Amino acid sequence: MSNIGEFDLIERISAQFRDNQANGAGTLGIGDDCAVLPQREGLDTLVTTDLLIEERHFLLSDISPWQLGWKSAAVNISDIAAMGGRPEATFLSIALPKKFPSKVHSSGAGTTDSVPVADWVDEFIGGFKALSGRFGVPLLGGDTSASPDKLFINVTVLGSCPHGAAILRSGAKAGDLVCVTGPLGDAGAGLKLILDRAASPDGSDASGGQASCHSERSRGIFSLQEQTLIRRHYEPVPRVAEGIALRECGGVHAMMDISDGIASDLRHILKASGVLGADIDLKSLPLSDELRAVCGERGLDPYELAVSGGEDYELLLTVAPEALEKARQAVGSLSVIGRITSEPGIRWEGGSHKDYQGFTHF
Ligand code: ADP
Ligand code: MG
Repeated sequence: MSNIGEFDLIERISAQFRDNQANGAGTLGIGDDCAVLPQREGLDTLVTTDLLIEERHFLLSDISPWQLGWKSAAVNISDIAAMGGRPEATFLSIALPKKFPSKVHSSGAGTTDSVPVADWVDEFIGGFKALSGRFGVPLLGGDTSASPDKLFINVTVLGSCPHGAAILRSGAKAGDLVCVTGPLGDAGAGLKLILDRAASPDGSDASGGQASCHSERSRGIFSLQEQTLIRRHYEPVPRVAEGIALRECGGVHAMMDISDGIASDLRHILKASGVLGADIDLKSLPLSDELRAVCGERGLDPYELAVSGGEDYELLLTVAPEALEKARQAVGSLSVIGRITSEPGIRWEGGSHKDYQGFTHF
C-alpha cells in the first residue's frame, strides 16, 4: 500500500462493482458507514464468514490474483449454497502486505518480480466479480488495511431462505441415503500438484511419475488433465442452484458443502445429527476421468483423494430413500455413495479399508 492509499484502493474496488451495487430498492452498498439491506417478511437471513491466510490457505507465488479473488468469493458463497440458501450480498476485508513477495503470480505476465498493488487488487476484484457476478451477488462493503507481512482476506456473505427452511447438518436419520452433487478428489489432486511444484527447488514440478512425462514436469509443464485438476482447486464453482433445488424438492434431511473431504465432513453431519454411523461404498464415489488418468500416471490413490482431499465444494447430503428420485430430478446429477446407519462409525467399503481422515488446517 506504499504507492497507493486506502481510499484509492476502495475506489478501485467499488468501481468494478458499480453496475451491480443495488440489490433491490432500499439497498445501500459501498460508501457509507454501513450497508443497508431491507428486511423481508417470511425470510431467514443466512450469514457466513471465512478467513483466508497467505501460506496457510494459498501461496501467493502460485495462485493468480484473479483466481484468489474467484476462490475467496466461491468458498463463502458455497456455505450459503450448503444451507439451500440464495446468496445476496458479499463483504470483503483485505489486509495487503506492504510489499508483495518477490515472486507473485500475475495472470498475463506469468510469474513476475513485482506487481504494483493497484494492479494486483484490480485483478483480484476481477476474479471476485467473475464468480459472484455469476450468481448476481453484489459487493456491499468491507475493510481495507495494510498488513505488516502476510496477505489476509476475509469474506462475509449474506443470503436468505424461507423462514425455517434452511437445510442443517443436524437432520440426518438412520436409513437416509448419502449423496454428493459432483466429482470428488479433483481439487485435492490439484493441490497435490501445486504443492509438489512449489516444493521443487526452481518452483517447477519435480514429483515422480512415469519417465515419459518427467522432463516436461520438471519444467513445470502440466498435462491438460493436470491443469484441469489445478483449476478445480483454484476455481471451484459453488452449487447454488443445486442447493436451492435440493431444499425445495423436500426429503433432504441434512446438507453441507465439502470443504475438508467427506471423511471429515460426513463426521460433522453424523455428530450434529446424533446419528451413529454410515456405510460408504468407495466404488460408487464419482471420480472424474481427469482424476483417474492423473492418479494412474502418478501412482496416486484416487479414493484417498476423493475422501480426504477436500475443497471440492460439491454438496454432501442425506436424503430419505423415497425422496431420492425427486432430488435427482431437481439437480440433474446426484451420486448415491452410501447410507446412514444406526451402527457407530464410518465403514469404507470396496477399497483398502483404511480409516480415512479429512483435511485439517491444524
Ligand atoms: P469506515 O472507516 O467507516 O469503516 P472505510 O473508510 O473503512 O469506512 O470504508 C468506506 C466504505 O468502503 C465502506 O462502505 C466500506 O464498507 C467500503 N470498503 C472498504 N474496504 C472495502 C473492501 N475491501 N471491499 C469492499 N468495500 C470496502
Ligand atoms: Mg473501515
